[in-house]
Amino acid sequence: MSKIFFVIPCYNEEAVLAETVKQLTDKIGSMVSEGKISKESKILFVDDGSKDKTWKMIEKYNEENPYVSGLKLAHNAGHQNALLAGLMKAKDLCDAAISLDADLQDDIDSLDQFIDKFHEGCQVVYGVRDSRETDTAFKRGTAQGYYKILSFLGVDIVYNHADYRLMGKPALEALAEFKEVNLFLRGIVPLIGFKSDYVYYSRNERFAGESKYPVKKMMKLAFDGITSFSVKPLKTISHVGIIISLLSIVGLVYVLISYLMSDTVHGWTAIMGSIWLLGGLQLLCIGVVGGYIGKIYSEVKARPRYIIESFVNKEG
Ligand code: UDP
Ligand code: MG
Repeated sequence: MSKIFFVIPCYNEEAVLAETVKQLTDKIGSMVSEGKISKESKILFVDDGSKDKTWKMIEKYNEENPYVSGLKLAHNAGHQNALLAGLMKAKDLCDAAISLDADLQDDIDSLDQFIDKFHEGCQVVYGVRDSRETDTAFKRGTAQGYYKILSFLGVDIVYNHADYRLMGKPALEALAEFKEVNLFLRGIVPLIGFKSDYVYYSRNERFAGESKYPVKKMMKLAFDGITSFSVKPLKTISHVGIIISLLSIVGLVYVLISYLMSDTVHGWTAIMGSIWLLGGLQLLCIGVVGGYIGKIYSEVKARPRYIIESFVNKEG
């Protein structure tokens, strides 16, 4: 029977932990008794350098509840890094790990479906929100615009999926091959491949405490999502440079004709001509340099170039 780890990053979550432990313990208990998961399954709380009682509480739950384990980070590394730390810890101990938020916004009644899909052979199961009704209009609008930008930039990402997902051991091992420091897990996981599927759920409201994702952290994550997966912005500079250079030729003709018809101030022709032509050429050159920087960037990330799913070699 499969041993599942529920990986939960926590940053100053003392207000929600008790309820989260209670609800998840009940859920795991019922899945164990239904024979869906092994009784060695665990909740792995990752304390992301909390300043409140979060770690003390995790230690206490670990003492009294056989399903609870904890990992403490030495400082606040951020949600994505905390999640990665938990997944990498779970990798060697479980058959599959499911990541979810401490505030149970990710509906735990959908957990059965994740497990079912895993048993059907999926190595990655994405939790996808089927509506954004619980979001403010601002969050809904920016999130949807952001997905559009990402897909325009050629970033392969699952629409309306955050970090509620199951990953089997081979997918976790593949994830360990990605060495980048600016983490945007929902961009990396689709790059891994393997058989995958979706589970649709509706996201609840945070039931206590406040969001640990202020606009500043969200902007950083959004920016990482673009710059870690697309060098298109760099290429765009070249394209703009080419367009301006071409347009400047038309401009040159125009300023020359104006000059010949002598209805211009002395010196205007040379200034106008050179501004446009040089501006265009400069952008083009920056774009070319950007092209090389983009290459250096992808080399430095040293992502795995392929991931092996299986190897068959029948003897004889
Ligand atoms: N979190 C974390 N480190 C941080 C910020 C957030 O581990 O620096 C955790 C947080 O405890 C929660 C999850 O990331 O379990 C999602 O955060 P939150 O619910 O505050 O974000 P929101 O749902 O408001 O986007
Ligand atoms: Mg939340």
